[in-house]
Amino acid sequence: MGRTVSSQPLQCTACGANDVIQIELTLPDGTEVEFYSCHTCEARWWNRDGEPLALDTVLDMARKTK
Ligand SMILES: [Zn+2]
Repeated sequence: MGRTVSSQPLQCTACGANDVIQIELTLPDGTEVEFYSCHTCEARWWNRDGEPLALDTVLDMARKTK
């Protein structure tokens, strides 16, 4: 069992595997988001403050520089 930053195990919401990586990113507007990627099924998703974030929303925020 590996160590994770959060107290919750990282589990893929698509396939249920625990083979998920977490990357913390800061968008150009200063918003801190977390990017998750599953090695098993290649599902990817985003969170902000623990809330699921749509990819379109992330891309929209990434385009805004202020
Ligand atoms: Zn998966």
